[in-house]
Amino acid sequence: MQVYLDNAATTRMSRAAIDAMVACMDANYANPSSLHEAGQSAAEKLLAARQSIAQLLGADSDEIYFTSGGSEADNQALETAAAIGERIGKKHIISSAFEHHAILHTLDRLKKRGFRITLLDVHEDGIVRADELDKAITQDTVCVSIMYANNEIGTVQPIKELGAVCHKRGVLFHTDAVQAVGQLPVNVVSDNIDMLSFSAHKFHGPKGIGALYVKKGIPVYTLISGGAQERGKRAGTENLPAIIGMERALKAACLSMSENAAKIAKLRDRLIDGLLSIPHTVLNGDRTRRLHGNVNVCFEGIEGEALLLMLSDMGIAASSGSACTSGSLDPSHVLLAIGRPHEIAHGSLRLTLSHENTQEDIDYTVSAVRQVVEQLREISPVWRDLQEGKKDYVIQ
Ligand SMILES: *Cc1c(COP(=O)(O)O)cnc(C)c1O
Repeated sequence: MQVYLDNAATTRMSRAAIDAMVACMDANYANPSSLHEAGQSAAEKLLAARQSIAQLLGADSDEIYFTSGGSEADNQALETAAAIGERIGKKHIISSAFEHHAILHTLDRLKKRGFRITLLDVHEDGIVRADELDKAITQDTVCVSIMYANNEIGTVQPIKELGAVCHKRGVLFHTDAVQAVGQLPVNVVSDNIDMLSFSAHKFHGPKGIGALYVKKGIPVYTLISGGAQERGKRAGTENLPAIIGMERALKAACLSMSENAAKIAKLRDRLIDGLLSIPHTVLNGDRTRRLHGNVNVCFEGIEGEALLLMLSDMGIAASSGSACTSGSLDPSHVLLAIGRPHEIAHGSLRLTLSHENTQEDIDYTVSAVRQVVEQLREISPVWRDLQEGKKDYVIQ
């Protein structure tokens, strides 16, 4: 049996998105900047996709800047904030300790350029507090960047309240909404968002395409210079097939959002209950304020890497944290941010669902994980010490 439970890393493209892309590659290969008829026809398709995507997020079409994905959008958003900050002499940026590395590494770069960075605590439940954000804002703060939903533990942030605090204090508000768009009803206006990043491959669209929403009036920083595409803010011939594929996938995700959410949340809860029946196991992140498809647990006394490889042999695609940290031996910065000690953070498992999963997938996965955890604990010296009382359990 093959079970794909790594949808936070990437999703399978929908058939409708693939078909729309292939049709576009066949018929609309001309450059949207060309003046001939074929070029203008491509330009019309591009505009229609831009308008549809904007509308699905409550934005205007000229507030959408297509990028190569979420990482580029995050970079461009923070560079936009930094350029404004440098101009008006405000060099403080607030973010959170469990952001995606596209945010954290960009903040590291800005720090070297003289910015002061504050990373807010995300507490054991994985939720940023609006009152703590309010306290952290100073006269010097130019921008706040807090992710909509976390990619490892799935916790959903009180974005509307955080945005309201920023607006009350006259500070720009950016959110990395890569895990939220297509899964939650995101609206840039009612959510008080000034800049928002998203990426198609997280909602069954193609890889290598995403966008940054920037509210009208905010001067966008040009990360990639060259041609006049994206109103001069992002050069490069538009990837029209990918943009069309993203539009198709987003529309489908929004149309079936509530139906999918209910189905996926039911499977998620079944999976959480099944995994928590394994002794000395803990759920990471708030039980209810989390993405419908996210399960993240730590098992005491085992290594996550070994668990993943053994599950892979049983046909289950899972992850220990984010795809970006796998391959490194450091424990997840997200799990450390919610206060999990190192030895526990190493024994983590992230299972992320989509509407394509079935109850059969879940039941098979629970029994496979139970079996593999038992096998690994049998050969674990740490587990033996715990059993013999030479060490105390971290997870009761
Ligand atoms: C996947 C992801 C990104 C990166 O998006 P890419 O399109 O792969 O560059 C950024 N932020 C979050 C929260 C993500 O889950």
